[in-house]
Parts: sequence; structure tokens; C-alpha cells
Amino acid sequence: MTTVEDDVDRDYTFTPEEIEYRAAIRAFLAEHLPESWVSLFSRPDAVEVSNKVTKELADAGYLIQHWPSEYGGKDGSIWMQAVAQEELWAHGEPRGGQYMNVNWIGPAIMHFGTEEQKRRYLPPIMRGEVLWAQLFSEPDAGSDLASLSTSAAVQPDGSFIVNGAKTWTSYGHLAETGFLLCRTEPGSRRSKGLSVLIIDMNTPGIERREIKTSLGTNRIAEEFFTDVHVPADALLGELNNGWAVAMTALGFERSGSARYARSTRVLGWLERLPESAAPELRTELAELLAEGRAAELANYNVVSVKEEGRTPTWQSSEARIFNSLYEQRVADFGETLLGPYVRVKADSAPSRAVAEVASLTTSQASSATVTAGTYEIQLGIIAQRRLGLELAR
Ligand SMILES: Cc1cc2nc3c(=O)[nH]c(=O)nc-3n(C[C@H](O)[C@H](O)[C@H](O)COP(=O)(O)OP(=O)(O)OC[C@H]3O[C@@H](n4cnc5c(N)ncnc54)[C@H](O)[C@@H]3O)c2cc1C
Repeated sequence: MTTVEDDVDRDYTFTPEEIEYRAAIRAFLAEHLPESWVSLFSRPDAVEVSNKVTKELADAGYLIQHWPSEYGGKDGSIWMQAVAQEELWAHGEPRGGQYMNVNWIGPAIMHFGTEEQKRRYLPPIMRGEVLWAQLFSEPDAGSDLASLSTSAAVQPDGSFIVNGAKTWTSYGHLAETGFLLCRTEPGSRRSKGLSVLIIDMNTPGIERREIKTSLGTNRIAEEFFTDVHVPADALLGELNNGWAVAMTALGFERSGSARYARSTRVLGWLERLPESAAPELRTELAELLAEGRAAELANYNVVSVKEEGRTPTWQSSEARIFNSLYEQRVADFGETLLGPYVRVKADSAPSRAVAEVASLTTSQASSATVTAGTYEIQLGIIAQRRLGLELAR
């Protein structure tokens, strides 16, 4: 695709190569995903399925296209990756937690890591064989992430001793590696004095517990750190400059998933139900299709920013807002059409359509405006960075 600066019309027509790539991924998923797969939210063995399919995606060369070949990528266009993201999300994100690796952990390591860190951490991500956890949120630091208190005391040899607690971590109890944001300068305040450490989640002193939520099993966890010894080479980026690392990573994360693709697929199921034929519902359906296109374009804008070598900031927040609101409106529409059926579990749903609508409505959509920073926080970022407004404190 051809792209230019923000606020200029862009041509988002996919090239023949990109169209062919989409067809190839679709064919791959048709062959490799179990027939009963609905989404990463809808089955207890979702993590096992994801691990298997992600490895197969990597072996077939579909997991990561656009990374540099020196790290195992194919120097491919970022649009090829965008195509893959769309197809994977539309099919219920079979990469499970590993989508984070591709979307933002790998890019953050490429951006801030030493050569040694890149050579160590990127190849296993490329091969689709490692689960990471993002250890940012704490019991008293969610939206106000800068108030976090987990500490990493720097030792004379440069290593760290970590103490504190993290919560709401996706796959935190299963992950092998953690991307930890913590306070390395004693007495520092807010975003100053923080650092990012890459930690082995099996290090002695880390206790992990699953938190049961409506998102399904094996999704969310909390972790407690007691005198956890972390080696000096775990530091990603500069000491006490971790806020910059975390914010760059969050910019990649917020726009990394093509959530609209899933909502649009579910909308397709709803459109085919006879119940959607009522004239007032047809109007709503048309509005939703337009919202879906807006969400898609907001994501394409972020891809363009990345293609130009810039780091997305407010553009990611904008994409996130369009995507999460669209997802929730599609979920509401599903509930209008299906009523109590949206509460059924995927394996007891009377049809594929019901299973997919139910999974979106009850599991995925409800948290869309919370995860990766709440809706209100995204609005604040746009107000400050896009519109130049000052926020009241
Ligand atoms: C499914 C899911 C997966 C998650 N995965 C991870 C993960 O892997 N790693 C991780 O670190 N965290 C994760 N989180 C945590 C997530 O980032 C936090 O839940 C989120 O940042 C909000 O923090 P909080 O829950 O403490 O809510 P709070 O910060 O307490 O917010 C409560 C309400 O107040 C509003 N609010 C707060 N501050 C402001 C403000 N300044 N202006 C306007 N409104 C405000 C919020 O928008 C929200 O509506 C996950 C959360 C979910 C739901």
C-alpha cells in the first residue's frame, strides 16, 4: 500500500500479493484449526491449541513476515503483517497470548534491546514457542500506572532484587518470560525512576495465581515477588528510563490487534439471521457496518505511521477507541437478536453463528474498553497529544 503523512487521504487498496497472502492464511487456518475452535476465550484447552497452531504458523512462515531477516523475519511489508493480523483476529486469534509477542514485545525489544537481547529473545518468538506476560498493572496502579510501587533494588554488581505485586496479567500464571515495569530509583515519583526488566517467570520468589473471571479459564493472573533475584542483563533500555520503553510498547500494543476483523465476522453471522430482517434492525446493521469500516481505517492509519518509521501514539488510542466501541455495539446487537442464547457456552451452542456471537458478547467485548488502557485513558491521550489540550488533575 502507498502511504503519506497524517490527515491526508491514503490509498488502502491491497496489492495482489497481499490478497494472495490473505487467501493463503485463510486456507492454512481452515486446515490447522480444530473445527470446534471458536476463539481464544471460548475453551478450557485454548492455550494448548494456541501453542500448537502458533508453532505451525511459524513453521509455515505465516507468524512473522515483517521483521528483519537478521532476526529470522522475511523483511516483508508491514501490510502483509496487517493482513495476517486481520485473518487471525477474524478467526478468534489462534495465537492466544503469543499475539503480544508479535505485536509489541518483539518490536519493543528490537527498539530498545542490546544485540545480545535481540539474539536471545527474538528467535523463540519467531519460532512461536514462548509465552510472555506484561507485568505493568498493580493492585493500586491501573490507569494511573505511574504510581506503581513494585521495586527492583539495584545491587553493586548491577543485578536487581524485586519485591512487590502485579495483577490482571494476561497469561501471567503460564508465561515463561515477563516484561516487568518496576521502580529502580528508590524514592522516585511518578514516571521517573522506572525501568523495564525481562524476567524468567520461574525464578524463585515469584508466586503466581490464576484469577477466575468471565473471560474463561487460563486468562488472567496475579503475581507476588519476594526478594526475586534478577541478573543485570535483564535490563531493557536505559536504567530509570523505563517509562519511555513502556509507553512505546503500549503504543504498539493498542493498535496491534485487528479486533474489528472479529467483530465484522460476527456481524456477518448476525446479518444472515432471519431476525435481522426487521427494517429498524437493518438500519442499525448499516450503521454498524460503517462503524466497522471506521475502525478498520483507524487501524490502517496506525499501520501507515509504523510503515513511515514513526512511533504511533494518539493514533493507537484512536484506533483502540473505534475498535472497542464497535466491538461492544456488535455485541449488543447480537444480544438484541439472540437474547438469552448469547449466554450459552461455545460447545453447547446450537450453531456456529450462536457460538461466535456468544463468545464475542459474553467474553471478549465486555473488557474491550478496559484492557490495554481504559476508554477514558485513551480519550485523555488523544486530548493531550492530538489536540494539545491540558487535562485537569
Ligand atoms: C482482559 C484484561 C486483560 C488485562 N491484561 C493485562 C496485562 O496483561 N498486563 C497488565 O499489566 N495489565 C493488564 N490488564 C489491566 C488493565 O491494563 C487495567 O485493568 C486498566 O489499565 C485499568 O486499570 P484498573 O483496572 O486499575 O482501573 P482503574 O484505573 O481503577 O479505573 C477505574 C475507572 O476509572 C477511570 N479512570 C481512572 N483514571 C482516570 C482518569 N485520569 N480520567 C478519567 N477516567 C479515569 C477508568 O477509565 C475506569 O473506568 C488487563 C485488564 C483486562 C480487563
